[in-house]
Amino acid sequence: MQLSSHKFTKDVKSILQMMEDMPPLQRRLVKTILTLPGTTLEEEFSRCNASINAIVAYCKFKEAKKEALKAAILLVFIEKRPLICFVCLGRQGLEFTKRMYKFASPGDLTKHFKRKHLS
Ligand SMILES: [Zn+2]
Repeated sequence: MQLSSHKFTKDVKSILQMMEDMPPLQRRLVKTILTLPGTTLEEEFSRCNASINAIVAYCKFKEAKKEALKAAILLVFIEKRPLICFVCLGRQGLEFTKRMYKFASPGDLTKHFKRKHLS
């Protein structure tokens, strides 16, 4: 399948606009993969190596996030007075840092819960 240059340019522009909101590792991944091929064999090897390293770093990051979420879910069920909101933690569409947000005290979590989830 061959993409038209107009479609490719449009897709790249929309990806570049989205990059501003991406976490640094995801931005690095997209940036290295979208880099144009090198003009020499050495440049091309360097580009491929950079892409592979970015993919490995991103996969480790995603795996670390999964492990952190699992640990947080376990803590919410084990602790008598958890500091992480179980409703926010369970929302898969929510940003990672918001899902994992740890309140300073159980009282702060109660205030958040009443304000965000009971109103
Ligand atoms: Zn919440």
